[in-house]
Amino acid sequence: MKVRPSVKKMCSDCNITTGKFQGKKRVRIRCKKNPKHNQRQG
Ligand SMILES: [Zn+2]
Repeated sequence: MKVRPSVKKMCSDCNITTGKFQGKKRVRIRCKKNPKHNQRQG
């Protein structure tokens, strides 16, 4: 999973999820089609 200062969808199969990770509110991209698209906001 990539960690970036900002995340965005890379294809139409990417899903944005938000939640608390490691104690901070973060945005994540989950992609079923292409696991390389998985990202996490830094
Ligand atoms: Zn994707």
